[in-house]
Amino acid sequence: MDGEERGLATMLVHAGERPIEGAVVTPIFQSATYLQGDAATYGDVVYLRLNNSPQQVALGAKLAAIEGAEAALPLASGMAAISTALLSVLSAGDHVLVQRNVYGGTATLLAQDLPRLGITHTAVDAAAPDTWAEALRPNTRAIYVESVSNPLLDVPDLPAVVRFARERGLVSFIDNTFQSPAGFRPVPFGFDLVLHSATKFLNGHSDLVAGVIAGSRERVDAARHLANHLGGSLDPHACFLLDRGLKTLTLRLARQTDTAMRIAMLLAEHPKVRRVRYPGLPADPNHERARAVFDHFGAMLAFELDSGEAAARFLARVTVPVHAVSLGGVESLVVQPARSTHLGMAPEARAALGISDALVRVSVGVEDPDDLLADFARALEAV
Ligand code: PLP
Repeated sequence: MDGEERGLATMLVHAGERPIEGAVVTPIFQSATYLQGDAATYGDVVYLRLNNSPQQVALGAKLAAIEGAEAALPLASGMAAISTALLSVLSAGDHVLVQRNVYGGTATLLAQDLPRLGITHTAVDAAAPDTWAEALRPNTRAIYVESVSNPLLDVPDLPAVVRFARERGLVSFIDNTFQSPAGFRPVPFGFDLVLHSATKFLNGHSDLVAGVIAGSRERVDAARHLANHLGGSLDPHACFLLDRGLKTLTLRLARQTDTAMRIAMLLAEHPKVRRVRYPGLPADPNHERARAVFDHFGAMLAFELDSGEAAARFLARVTVPVHAVSLGGVESLVVQPARSTHLGMAPEARAALGISDALVRVSVGVEDPDDLLADFARALEAV
């Protein structure tokens, strides 16, 4: 593979693999520490928490290849990746522009935890570049967005984010969890640091928690240095599972995004559905921005019924999707954000973000599309 440009599906299968003892698949290295040999510095010592065991390195190489990045670092969760990456760039006194409506864990980190370290932020409308300059301060160091936001599926003006960051000398961060490299590769596009909850589409099987930081070698090395001391390294068994899950990313997402489009169309025409959010629908306010930069419209969608009660009835009546938080797995998942992912938020704050009680979010899995469509139609008739 080395030095050759290969397609994403090929890299997902082969990049970084180490045929140790002839094993076709990189095995589980269930060892915390490794023979010291003639290690001359602490940096040469191989130890799981130092993120340099053979399996962590192999997985990092695959993740870098699929992101089109110089380097990548797998970590213990999406939040470990996000917090480590932010702290590797920001210092006390720094300020960040952040897309309004980012994932709740990130929003809380920025609103409650980082201010204690002297790091502040301003929320901006990521689809309105004209408004960003007025939010800048002399100490603004970075801009942070998500490729597609949760749960309303808003798409930022991504070319404008890259341009703005370059013109203003800001470090650009993007959480690419909802798209995955199958839909968007932010590093070749111009972003400095890409973050993932690998718990979701990258792994794809809802059986582990992991995160990824990808970018230039210099930036990822800075994040690795901090990660080594913050301590959120990825366990060998989770490395193995993530590597295995990655191999089918393009296959899973081809099915999932096709089915998502079919479900979005069914919902858009249904009399009991007030509004559908799916960037693949031509009528969606994000459609043009998504079409311009993404390779697919993704496997996430959201829709609004008449009331919170109707949404709860829908969740109780579907029989194929599982009613649970998280997303990106082979099984379809449905949630009512106001009563799950955004339960901790005051109702007025939720309303200000456009997250009503009647909203249902769907992560579309790989089940038979006809089963899902029939199940949605049946559940809607009964709400
Ligand atoms: N980013 C996004 C967009 C998410 O949806 C999530 C989790 O739901 C995270 C980050 C956090 O990931 P993790 O739960 O793996 O820490």
